[in-house]
Amino acid sequence: MRIYKSRFVLPVASPPLEQGAVAVDGDRIAAVGPADSITEKYPDAQVFDLGDAALLPGLVNAHTHLELSDASPDDLPAGDYMAWVRAMIERPREPEDAAPAAQRAIETMVARGTVAVGDVANASWIAPLLNRSPLHGVLFLELIGFNPASAEQLLDDAARSLDEIDRDEDFAANPRLRVVLTPHGPQSCSAALIKALAGRAVAAAAPLSIHVAESDEETKLLMEGSGPFRDLLEERGVLPDPWAVPKHSPVEHLDRLGALSPRTLAVHCIHLSKQDLSRLQTRGVTVVTCPRSNDRLGVGRAPVAQLLGAGIPVALGTDSTASAPDTDLFAELAYLCSEIGIAPAAGLRMATLNGARALGLTDDLGSIAEGKLAELIVVPLDGAPDPMAVIGSNPETVYRLADAPAEAT
Ligand SMILES: [Zn+2]
Repeated sequence: MRIYKSRFVLPVASPPLEQGAVAVDGDRIAAVGPADSITEKYPDAQVFDLGDAALLPGLVNAHTHLELSDASPDDLPAGDYMAWVRAMIERPREPEDAAPAAQRAIETMVARGTVAVGDVANASWIAPLLNRSPLHGVLFLELIGFNPASAEQLLDDAARSLDEIDRDEDFAANPRLRVVLTPHGPQSCSAALIKALAGRAVAAAAPLSIHVAESDEETKLLMEGSGPFRDLLEERGVLPDPWAVPKHSPVEHLDRLGALSPRTLAVHCIHLSKQDLSRLQTRGVTVVTCPRSNDRLGVGRAPVAQLLGAGIPVALGTDSTASAPDTDLFAELAYLCSEIGIAPAAGLRMATLNGARALGLTDDLGSIAEGKLAELIVVPLDGAPDPMAVIGSNPETVYRLADAPAEAT
């Protein structure tokens, strides 16, 4: 048994503890509480004092696309969403170029205190990289196909990729990662495809991650069947003829297809009506917000405070380096606090527990609680009176627990 004492312990699911401690047995948390009572409870434990620091759960980046890590936002259009979408479609995708960049992005995450990830990928080459990393999480193999005629073939091909990954011995032996299929979004996937993937996710009790209500253009396509997304789909020859315009908001469209459930990660959710908001709440959906990406693309801002106020869990993601500067969730959290006006304590919950819950990882991660994995991180406080203020302002130094300087006592 080891005990880690710290000036502050921030369990997230329970109030902060000044002069707190965490007892760790093997790789699991045995107890958390005031330092005095924890050391009294386990008199034979080895005690490590982390000193003037905050001990907190490792972060959960609920939405990123590691396979796009070779993209830089500076090389892509800013403030013009449709121009960015077109640039992303035209961009060559070469795993040979992208893999080293993805590896660096993973290293950034690990170095900056992220312990779990919801990663969205169109190709399976990212699987072995994630597998070799210490990260936990879900790899969402993403399907795109607006023409319903292609749905069956896409699903067959994707199921084969999934089987291939599942058959890989290294992957099968790794309890940290799960691979599932997921649709990209309502402006790029047919109703048939979304419905099939949603049904599959429900049957497997698997998470489903889908981009939704990111842009006005997406709403226009679904409500009116017109606008720049229609032009794009026509140009690419994937608009079915005839096509029945849904005439519903993106959120209602997904709900009608059975894609909104407590295991759904609804990514972005910027353009929401009152009815959309209550629909998300009723269905128990987690919204994932990526504020730096949204601002970069000029798509608007998610009503995070309003969502939280309505009791809708909101998780935090960095999105990819095609629209955000890096995969550092502490930098995203600082932006959420300073630019979106979310209090650091609420932001920390979004960046830990809410993400873990959405990805189905709460047995192991997301808070400091008995029985969970000791995937904890340490942030030096340097005398700062309020640990939350440090957490919410992109701390310069972050350690994984095993690497944190500690005094053995
Ligand atoms: Zn995304």
